[in-house]
Amino acid sequence: MRGIVQGVGFRPFVYARAVALGIRGTVKNTGSQVEIDAWGDRFEAFLADVSRGPPLSRIDSVEVLPLAGPPPAGFLILTSSAGTLSGMIPPDVATCGECVGDLFDGRSRYHGYFATSCVNCGPRYSIIESLPYDRERTSMAAFPMCPECGREYADPGCRRHHAQTIACPSCGPRLSLMDADGRAMGVPDPVREAAELLDAGSILAIRGIGGFHIACTEERAGELKARLGRVEQPFAVMVREEFLGRMTCVKDGDWKVLGSEVHPIAVLVKRDPTAHADISNLHTIGCMLPYAPLHHLLFARLAAPLLIMTSANMPGYPMITETDTAVAKLRGQVDYYLTHDRQILNRCDDSVVRDGFIIRLSRGIAPKRTRIDLGPACILGVGPELNSNVTIYKGGFAITSPHVGHVRNPPTLAYLEETAERIRGWLGAKYDVIAHDLHPSFLSTGYARALAEETGAELVPVQHHQAHVAATTLEPCVSITIDGVGYGDDGRVWGGEVFAGQVPHLDRIGHLEEVPMPGGDLATRFPERMLYGILPDDRVLSLLMDRGWTDIQCGVLARQVERGVNVAWTSSTGRVLDAVSALLGICRERTYDGEPAMRLEAAAYGAPAREWPLEFVEKPGAEVLSTRSVVQRALGEYLAAREAGGRAGGKAVVAGIAASVQESLARGLAHIAVHGARDRGLEIVALSGGVAYNASIRETIRREVEQAGLTLLMNREYPLGDGCISYGQCVWAGAVKRVQG
Ligand SMILES: [Zn+2]
Ligand SMILES: [Zn+2]
Repeated sequence: MRGIVQGVGFRPFVYARAVALGIRGTVKNTGSQVEIDAWGDRFEAFLADVSRGPPLSRIDSVEVLPLAGPPPAGFLILTSSAGTLSGMIPPDVATCGECVGDLFDGRSRYHGYFATSCVNCGPRYSIIESLPYDRERTSMAAFPMCPECGREYADPGCRRHHAQTIACPSCGPRLSLMDADGRAMGVPDPVREAAELLDAGSILAIRGIGGFHIACTEERAGELKARLGRVEQPFAVMVREEFLGRMTCVKDGDWKVLGSEVHPIAVLVKRDPTAHADISNLHTIGCMLPYAPLHHLLFARLAAPLLIMTSANMPGYPMITETDTAVAKLRGQVDYYLTHDRQILNRCDDSVVRDGFIIRLSRGIAPKRTRIDLGPACILGVGPELNSNVTIYKGGFAITSPHVGHVRNPPTLAYLEETAERIRGWLGAKYDVIAHDLHPSFLSTGYARALAEETGAELVPVQHHQAHVAATTLEPCVSITIDGVGYGDDGRVWGGEVFAGQVPHLDRIGHLEEVPMPGGDLATRFPERMLYGILPDDRVLSLLMDRGWTDIQCGVLARQVERGVNVAWTSSTGRVLDAVSALLGICRERTYDGEPAMRLEAAAYGAPAREWPLEFVEKPGAEVLSTRSVVQRALGEYLAAREAGGRAGGKAVVAGIAASVQESLARGLAHIAVHGARDRGLEIVALSGGVAYNASIRETIRREVEQAGLTLLMNREYPLGDGCISYGQCVWAGAVKRVQG
């Protein structure tokens, strides 16, 4: 049997089935495959059982061969040999139900122990130094097993048989509570003490599986924001299971995701969109259930129904993993540290999921391994700039790293390089091809170039939105890619694109109208500039002056647009949504990525959208949706409502306009795609890009596409946003190599 068969409790699983079915023989793990010799009357039933594998395994193939010779007396587990490992890097797994049972069982050796785990659960990736996955090559090597743990480890009938992370209070990692200066407080029960401090309003840094969180109760949200200097960005929360349904609308699919072996943050719609506003001023809130034994123990002691749990990091920098670093960097932000002495070798943020779509591919999912044939070359995809990760393709499998972050400063670039280097080492990969973003000045592009120079690998630049398509499908299709910005083939800034064809041959058959971004990145931070770029209209200027812009500021902006000085041209979907968010007074300054558009979606939530007439601009070979006309309409309605006066109708008016703008953009893009598909006889419309997380835009596109008798295809294995790009770059590069023969 081949696949992910190591580190997942495969041998004890096979042993248990063999004993149950009276099978004699042996089982042996050789790294990427398990070899079973089996004799017995109930062989077929045994084969069917073991072919399903234990919960964490992934079976790629099962081969059955006849066997000669006499069977052994019983069933034996043979020792491992380190064979070739085709990408066996297990992700960290949320604590299983049986281990949670042990935590609260007064008779168990694991009662109250924060690092309890078994073959089915516990840290993996975050503690692995090198492969094959055995205790001595993990950060558990520092904790020699006590005789009792050793006995369970060796017992084939035990759930902790060959559990590399097995540990108990007498031999395993220990918790400690530290004061604000990082001095150990020597308390007998750090969890109880920490829970009391949290309930009393303290802010704690808590060392978890893949890094530090900063935690506090909901009442302290304002204080936490003040200390972090983070005013608008929503926090994720860890919620007691029984409280979650009262606070949010959890669908069956959400429960499944929340309770899975991943235990990600699920972005859920609040029952009351205005509730918990200090945690999230959107209509949604990111929630997770306790996923490590420490969290289960903490919540058992805690009175509060939820804790804010936000990654501890400097804005834009990787999450903190080391206790010393936490004490140095979080001074003034946290009151206490709840930490442990098990080293985190590989950082891993919490994964984030919304409506079954992955937003952040990380803990529990990554390293993600996908079986795909991209040819014989070994390929590295270095990702784009924002929400980056890396993917390495080798021998029929693509391995994508956990989320790295925004690669626009040297420490995050260094983290990207370390991550690539570590996974490369594990795979024994030697790059033939390095795929990177088309943007010439991304730090990741520089890394790709330097690495190509060093290794002699061939460089393949990949256009950002085409990488999105490659990550979604290799079938002939029409694709809609809607996001912030990406460097286009023509050197302009793309972001609302419709392509037709088959990777790596995609024609740009349509896009959103290209509009100026006055001041480039400044228009991203202050979306009122974007609004004027789209509508260089005196009515916009007088609106801005009403809001406190000075004559001079307005004059400079107007001249900038008129003369085209320091102006980039963009077909970005995100920038249009930003501009409308600014127009409606919802968000006038962006303080985190995607903020204006996310708050626009929140404002529109539940409001009926009107079908505005759409205008298209013909351009040779492409159909262009006039976004100016959409924003013009929004401006007209907004000003008319303002004229009519009365604050009472204000919120509903704003919601209605916001909903109608979203509807118009979605319908317009779908129209271009449907048109293109009919012209070319294509049946699939692939949708990707960060704007596709917007439920109303996505569902409008789905409705239009399906009404036209076409199939909408979206990726549920990789993020819709830029976390799919490194994978898409690999797929694209593989396709390019194939075409070249
Ligand atoms: Zn377990
Ligand atoms: Zn022990």
